[in-house]
Amino acid sequence: MSPVIGIDLGGSKIALGLVDARDRIVARRRIDTDSEAGLKSVIERIAAEVEALGATRPARQAIEAVGIGAPGPVDPVSGDLLTLVNLPGISNTPFRRALQERLALPVALDHDAKVAALGEFHFGAGRERESMIYIVIGTGVGAAIIYQGRLIYGERNSAGESGHMTVDPNGPRCHCGSRGCLETYASGPALARHYAAATCETISGAEVAKRALAGDGTARDVLASAGRALGIAIASLAMTLNIEQFVIGGGVAQAGDLLLGPARASLKRYSFKAVSARVRVSASAMGQDAPILGAAWLARRKRIERA
Ligand SMILES: [Zn+2]
Repeated sequence: MSPVIGIDLGGSKIALGLVDARDRIVARRRIDTDSEAGLKSVIERIAAEVEALGATRPARQAIEAVGIGAPGPVDPVSGDLLTLVNLPGISNTPFRRALQERLALPVALDHDAKVAALGEFHFGAGRERESMIYIVIGTGVGAAIIYQGRLIYGERNSAGESGHMTVDPNGPRCHCGSRGCLETYASGPALARHYAAATCETISGAEVAKRALAGDGTARDVLASAGRALGIAIASLAMTLNIEQFVIGGGVAQAGDLLLGPARASLKRYSFKAVSARVRVSASAMGQDAPILGAAWLARRKRIERA
């Protein structure tokens, strides 16, 4: 089997991995996204990196296909990028088709949370499970649902907007217009905001997680509150879908049990005992490699899985 390339297209960085026939990342590249430069510039710079990876010694054989995880709304059939707030220069462009034409290789593209979920499902914390819900905590909170091996898209491709599940109707106002969304407690900026409110010190969400691990009591309280909100969302999802494996990804997940312990406690409190007793809430096993491996998996299929 020929190697493929998995690409994690992010708001500030693009990470590429050359993935061999045994699903191992054997070479990597990383460049700035610089999306303001526009579609042509981003495509040309990705193409240069794909060609550089193809020329590396572990490749030897020709690249078979390329897979991409992109943030924000995408059309999973055409591979068009829709309105991406964090990628202004390449919003509303036929991204997949443009890259495919430039590379003369099959290119598959899907939403980044779904792509990372595929990575965890096939190679990480969801291995050997038939179904799994992946919740990624970053600038926002996104989710991807895999049921009996297939991603669920919903009727208009918007399944997985779990960051905007209301976990407290009297909670803080969310940028989406609603109130008490999971995202207002558990996203990176929310952690930063809650920490700043208690200490008057502004640090990133990932830094809050690091400080919690180092023993900072305020950071631990902020994470515990995020974990409780996460557990309420998990309880509702588990009660509705009866899926038993939840995987939490994103930088904040590195806080491990400081986040997941309170999440498990609140899952137990807000769901049937028979349900919560079987639900496993795990931290991502693949970390930053999940989107690259998931994109590579998608590339091998050369088509988008539709539920
Ligand atoms: Zn919201």
